[in-house]
Amino acid sequence: MDRSTGLVWLRNDLRISDNPALAAACKESDAVIALYIHETDKGIRAPGGAARWWLHHSLTVLAKDLAELGISLMVESGKAGDVLADVIKNQSVGNVHWNRRYAPAEVAIDKEIKENLRKDELSVTSHPGNVLIEPWMIETGQGKPYSVFSPFWKTLRDKHIEQPLQKPRKLGDAIKAGNVDREYKAPKWSKKFDGVWATGEKAAHDALDHFLDQNLEDYPEGRNFPARDVTSRLSPHLRFGEISPRQVWHTALARTQSHHELRAPTDKFLSELAWRDFSYHQLFHRPDISSAPMQPKYSRMEWRTDAKALHAWEKGMTGIPIVDAGMRELWQTGYMHNRVRMLVASLLSKNLLIDWREGERWFWDCLVDSDMANNPASWQWVAGSGLDAAPYFRIFNPATQGERFDADGKYVREWVPEIKAMPDKWIHNPSGAPKDVLKAAGVELGTTYPRAIVDLKESRERALEAQKNL
Ligand code: FAD
Repeated sequence: MDRSTGLVWLRNDLRISDNPALAAACKESDAVIALYIHETDKGIRAPGGAARWWLHHSLTVLAKDLAELGISLMVESGKAGDVLADVIKNQSVGNVHWNRRYAPAEVAIDKEIKENLRKDELSVTSHPGNVLIEPWMIETGQGKPYSVFSPFWKTLRDKHIEQPLQKPRKLGDAIKAGNVDREYKAPKWSKKFDGVWATGEKAAHDALDHFLDQNLEDYPEGRNFPARDVTSRLSPHLRFGEISPRQVWHTALARTQSHHELRAPTDKFLSELAWRDFSYHQLFHRPDISSAPMQPKYSRMEWRTDAKALHAWEKGMTGIPIVDAGMRELWQTGYMHNRVRMLVASLLSKNLLIDWREGERWFWDCLVDSDMANNPASWQWVAGSGLDAAPYFRIFNPATQGERFDADGKYVREWVPEIKAMPDKWIHNPSGAPKDVLKAAGVELGTTYPRAIVDLKESRERALEAQKNL
């Protein structure tokens, strides 16, 4: 290899098409290598267990896709600056490209690395990252970051979203894919996801196509009902950049342009995608949204310590069926439906008054889509400490939410089979059911299924009081 070898440092962008860094490297050089680093730098949030499962499988697919183009994927671990320096020296690299990331600690690391490499007279270029629009390219009339979603969305939808880039050219004959297993450290429990998900760029586009063909029309209404399964399930693909948000944006618009009846559903879908950008906007402009409440008054909140309740919540044994169903779905599949995420987060941070950071950490470990921006921003939204948070008096009642959004109990029965014989009337509130109903359904509270660990009415009052006192 000569000095013209290009290096692409891949991070949250495990795809070939619409990858600005990869496209630029392939344009500039006739030989390109790709590098993924399991980073050990201070400030980098190590992926949780479920995300490590996804990462491994995604890298495996990517290595094959890159090999088809004549590009090898190296997977290393260590401090990013040290690993890059080694690879650059050993492979005679002349230019380096990456797509940006947005957490303040990551930005600082990238900046330092860029300065150091440039001192060594390397050409280093960063490109737009895994968002619709760079977080600093969108601001309020007063030139400030947005803190409320609706005006953010209003501005974003009128912005020009760049068209996706094509797949880069082939740089040579296909080669043998590199070994990504060396650094594989996913926990044993994540093995159960093997039959649940397909990873990689093709799987991401298949998921989008399936959604647009089958479910888009029902999305605005159907997205609230966990048993209907009409949402796109693109979140882990977006998290790892197997598909870019602008590919999702333009594919959805192009596909539905000539279908008048799909305009409103498309708009709703794209507005949800924009929530993701809004989370990244907050991540970029704040020091650390995963550890500090965005509304400072919430640092005075007197959270309860209740290890037993936290454990019951994590294991899906709270005795509140829709919450238990969600927590078990999470554990079994690495995913949870959005409405149920809101309900379980509300139960933890409001009814149980347990610090939202405990829940955020559990989600971080268990979700295949656990995301630096979306996870803490959503938790803070539910807990009330977020910028554009749910008002403090909005405390979901999981039993009535269940009756509304899982009226026939299909979702609960799938994940909490020990109460499946309960009649619809009581499926969301077995602790309130008459004895003969429980007996007929074979449910013995405290034995076959837990009694509710918290009284929803009383704990609601307690949460209101705690928040009012702030
Ligand atoms: P769809 O409804 O099909 O939406 C398409 C895409 O838009 C999603 O893939 C996602 O990227 C984005 N999106 C949709 N809803 C939201 C939202 N409310 N906020 C931000 N982006 C959204 N999402 C994550 O990607 N990672 C997380 O770690 C995460 N943690 C969450 C924690 C809590 C407590 C809550 C309430 C929500 C969390 N979300 C998270 C947001 C949301 O639940 C998921 O993005 C969504 O359920 C993913 O399913 P989907 O891809 O089928 O979504």
